[in-house]
Amino acid sequence: MDANVTSLETDGHRVSKVHIARSEGKPVQLRAGTYVLATGGIENSRILLWSNELSNGQLIKEDSTLGKYWMEHPHYRIGEAIITGNPPFTHSQNGGEVFFAPTQSAMLEDRSLNCGMKIAKQRSTGLLTEISCVAPDFGRWAASLVGKNLVCEAKMRGAWEQEPLERNRIELSSEVDRLGVPRVKLMWKKSRYDVQTAKKAAMRFGQFLAQTNAGRLRVDPWILDEGAFPNDKPHSGHHHMGGTRMAATPQDGIVDSNCKVFGQDNLYIAGSSVYPSAGCVNPTFTIVQLALRLGEHLVQTNA
Ligand SMILES: Cc1cc2nc3c(=O)[nH]c(=O)nc-3n(C[C@H](O)[C@H](O)[C@H](O)COP(=O)(O)OP(=O)(O)OC[C@H]3O[C@@H](n4cnc5c(N)ncnc54)[C@H](O)[C@@H]3O)c2cc1C
Repeated sequence: MDANVTSLETDGHRVSKVHIARSEGKPVQLRAGTYVLATGGIENSRILLWSNELSNGQLIKEDSTLGKYWMEHPHYRIGEAIITGNPPFTHSQNGGEVFFAPTQSAMLEDRSLNCGMKIAKQRSTGLLTEISCVAPDFGRWAASLVGKNLVCEAKMRGAWEQEPLERNRIELSSEVDRLGVPRVKLMWKKSRYDVQTAKKAAMRFGQFLAQTNAGRLRVDPWILDEGAFPNDKPHSGHHHMGGTRMAATPQDGIVDSNCKVFGQDNLYIAGSSVYPSAGCVNPTFTIVQLALRLGEHLVQTNA
């Protein structure tokens, strides 16, 4: 609509107007009773950071968490497996992919975050021969099933939860865009705890395969050794979360449990920027649910 919000203006307690720039013509201002900022997982923080700077801190008075605790979902191959016999799970219609994740009690026991693992059949890479060298009894048994359509090789990919860290953040850069709004600098680093999450989930799944004699899993060495993330293939889910996190107090976050910005009576936020933690699943379903809940709240409060 060529209507780019450049900033929000406040009287200190209520947003009074929104400034809008267009590619041609004069900037315009828009007034409303209630405002919902829904510009995505980076822009929500960006607009608030910039508006706060313009208002000398009157928009987000307690801004110690603004732009911070930003998260993504690391997406990497975790390992490969041989699935034998009749596994205690069924392949879905969806291209033979099956999904696994640790239970809540497993995560508590392992002190780990959530990790979604996707198993999908792959063409033979000679994994069975390799496994036979280190586990000959298993190899012999599995080999006896070959040809009966009971053995397949599978690759395992993971998409997992990242630890919310203050240092992972969005800041305003000194460079501005053509509308005069500062661009963002995104600081995003994965931690050792993030690798450990994938390792613990993979080890659990490997144990499950072995205990049920459904197969064997080889975990990729960098995960097993808790090493550095491969930098030749930085993978993420394009899932931008955090930056305006939901919390009980303004010291701990930007919005309350109704997605209302602390300290402003008529400003709300929709989107995954309000997530205080990221889970391991794709974010948009929860974004939609929160938006519907916010809609109901606005109707109930006659906002
Ligand atoms: C390649 C890719 C694949 C993805 N796959 C999945 C998936 O499979 N499952 C899943 O759950 N999620 C997926 N996502 C993430 C998903 O797209 C986001 O979670 C979702 O779109 C966020 O919705 P939103 O409405 O909060 O923000 P957005 O969809 O980003 O919408 C924000 C809107 O605000 C507008 N806007 C921004 N700034 C301004 C401004 N200053 N003024 C006016 N308007 C502005 C933007 O133009 C945009 O239309 C994927 C993302 C990408 C990029």
